Amino acid sequence: MDLRYSAEDEAFRSELRGWLESEVPRHGPDPGNVDWPARRAYDTAWQAKLHAAGYAGLHWPAAFGGRGASVTQQLVYLEEYARARAPYISVNFVGLMHAGPTLIAEGTPAQQAAHLPAILRGDEVWCQGFSEPGAGSDLASLRTRAVRDGDHYVVNGQKIWCTRAQVADYCELLVRTDPDARTHRGITWLVLPMRAEGVTVRPIRTIDGDDHFCELFLDDVRVPVENRVGDENDGWRVANVTLRFERGTAFAQHIINLRGQVGRIVEVASSRRTPAGTLWDDVELRRRVGRITADLDALWRLTQMCITEADRTGQPAQYGSAVKLRYSELGQEVAELFVRVVGRTSLALHDFDGLPALEAGKGHLWSLQSTIAAGTSQIQRNLIAQRILGLPRP
Ligand SMILES: Cc1cc2nc3c(=O)[nH]c(=O)nc-3n(C[C@H](O)[C@H](O)[C@H](O)COP(=O)(O)OP(=O)(O)OC[C@H]3O[C@@H](n4cnc5c(N)ncnc54)[C@H](O)[C@@H]3O)c2cc1C
Repeated sequence: MDLRYSAEDEAFRSELRGWLESEVPRHGPDPGNVDWPARRAYDTAWQAKLHAAGYAGLHWPAAFGGRGASVTQQLVYLEEYARARAPYISVNFVGLMHAGPTLIAEGTPAQQAAHLPAILRGDEVWCQGFSEPGAGSDLASLRTRAVRDGDHYVVNGQKIWCTRAQVADYCELLVRTDPDARTHRGITWLVLPMRAEGVTVRPIRTIDGDDHFCELFLDDVRVPVENRVGDENDGWRVANVTLRFERGTAFAQHIINLRGQVGRIVEVASSRRTPAGTLWDDVELRRRVGRITADLDALWRLTQMCITEADRTGQPAQYGSAVKLRYSELGQEVAELFVRVVGRTSLALHDFDGLPALEAGKGHLWSLQSTIAAGTSQIQRNLIAQRILGLPRP
């Protein structure tokens, strides 16, 4: 493997860097996660700018409106994006990172034409309706029911933890179409229009004071059969395609951002005075930052392998579970270390005495979700044991 970038990649880097340097400051301040229509407007306007400049869906094949960039250019893009502190894709995350890629892999030409260009332009926002109050880790036990009625499915049930569903246009929805089949066998993957009659979205307030995710109630919602992705009762296989994109490559940008957060720890530690100098003179702290940096380098190499594999086969490899596991646990360690460096002021959740208490405190609270979302760490360990290492099921 040659990990160096070519002259062509470096040319791409400098063109992208120039564009980001001029466009990011012009996009204005982040609106936060309270005013959701403002959040959507901000994120989708940024997506539209990326699209107009030819940077939308860099990893999507050109036949589907993406840039079809080489693996190395995808990596350069992520590095430059993080360097420029460009807006996080937020409301476009599901559409760009796993619903769109699932449609590319499994959708009909009509579904692809209807949704893929709109996702890339930022005109369409997607959410995910997989989890239910009684079906999280054991997703295959989901009970939301879809009954065929002519050329529609009539859907009834409840979903939960649907991230940013309050501003979504479509939902990747898992439903049970055959209640008599064994759990994995009777599931179907549908494209749910969020504005269909009978869809109710109720936001959930979390410990950090925001309402990132929602409950979704479905009462006699009529979904056209043409919105089915894959065959009826073949949804578990399609869902696994979605989950492999979600776990394998979707976190690449977050992993790069972790490096920036380690940089922030060093910056703040260097500015905090102690009787002996600054916090950054503490040998233990330096040792820990050094070890985390080495861990991040190793994780980035694993991510590069995953992206390369996704490029070669069209789907991320199973070891995406290892990337997700390591990323989420390292992310929590970094967030916790940041709180330690900032000190007790982090509890205030607003900046005080020149210290970034809000950033550290909120970042720590937010990091708690990472070992749960997209499959818990225990589930990732089970997958690693069974599907990567080939160990027997317990
Ligand atoms: C921030 C965030 C965003 C999310 N966004 C979405 C979304 O947009 N759409 C969506 O559909 N879902 C979403 N989820 C839901 C997420 O996928 C589930 O929370 C997750 O799969 C765990 O399910 P659960 O919460 O029901 O926990 P449970 O499955 O009830 O698990 C409880 C505990 O038991 C452990 N456990 C369960 N089974 C096993 C086992 N077989 N072996 C070992 N340990 C086990 C788990 O690891 C966990 O510690 C989101 C979650 C979070 C935190």
